[in-house]
Amino acid sequence: MLIVMEHSATQPQIDTVIAAVRRLGFTPQPIPGENRMAIGVLGNQGYVDDEPFRDLPGIQELIHVTKPYKLVSRDFHPHDSVVVVGGAKVGWGLEPVVIAGPCTVESREQVLVTAKAVKAAGARVLRGGAFKPRTGPHAFQGLGYEGLEYLAEAGREVGLPIITEVMRIDQVETVAHLADCLQIGARNMQNFDLLKEVGRIGKPVMLKRGISATLEEFLAAAEYIVLEGNVDVILCERGIRTFERALRSTLDLGVVPFLRQVTHLPVIVDPSHALGRRDLVTPMAKAALVVGAAGVMVEVHPDPANALCDGPQSLDPPGFTQLMRELGATRSLSTPRA
Ligand code: PEP
Ligand code: MN
Repeated sequence: MLIVMEHSATQPQIDTVIAAVRRLGFTPQPIPGENRMAIGVLGNQGYVDDEPFRDLPGIQELIHVTKPYKLVSRDFHPHDSVVVVGGAKVGWGLEPVVIAGPCTVESREQVLVTAKAVKAAGARVLRGGAFKPRTGPHAFQGLGYEGLEYLAEAGREVGLPIITEVMRIDQVETVAHLADCLQIGARNMQNFDLLKEVGRIGKPVMLKRGISATLEEFLAAAEYIVLEGNVDVILCERGIRTFERALRSTLDLGVVPFLRQVTHLPVIVDPSHALGRRDLVTPMAKAALVVGAAGVMVEVHPDPANALCDGPQSLDPPGFTQLMRELGATRSLSTPRA
């Protein structure tokens, strides 16, 4: 429930409401607004009865929030959150952040060459998978901790923060020592124990939308992380599975302006996994910025034809440089910053 106080409510009236929430065994969360204070009620499993609040002075309105998420919603947190990854600030309305790198770390040299190329072209964060969620067990599964070391070395060498995926709870602590941001992949979006674990770690998290997840499920998954105390969450739209088979997934770009209304968490777009084709990555990365995305994540490989994973959707370094050029020209078309 959200308790909206009157514009003229006094501090003692606010304190009385807060005490009433506590008396019911719930957690009050004061939400100061421009014109009035609101108090969020957290910790309830179901409907909260209006009765104890009905006669308290200073209350304008009681709003029952029936959604499975609260902390990630604008109702409970009206102002944009800014997630800092290394030196890169990710947030609605800020300079869009480009995250780039190989799908998978294949060798020390491969990731270093890629890191140098993406850094030179203007990427702000280096990506690379060490633990890979592959559809089939015969496909290359990633270099694991060795890959993580190579990614971290490359990031240090070129001066870029790094993001990499964690698939299991027991990987979280070690990966968090080296990585600047932990990625939860689409296949793990509803791995609730993993979400809680990254919620307890003091590093930003990028949560990818599950391939058949509704936006309510996506936001509820983010709520698991925030509820544990980690508010540094970036949402990533990476395409969903629909009846359409021509492309790898259907890039659901309408979610960007929609989520901007609903959540304070920044949203970025991954056109590489959504389209599955390198020639479509740049146009859709541009489209993502035009509709207001806080950034894009794209796959880059020094030799896509011989990549061990996701070669067809990976840009080569000149292709990435061209993407950066086109994104620069697109920026002026972006939706007005709120
Ligand atoms: C990835 O970004 O490396 C990845 C595996 O993506 P997704 O989880 O979106 O499939
Ligand atoms: Mn990939």
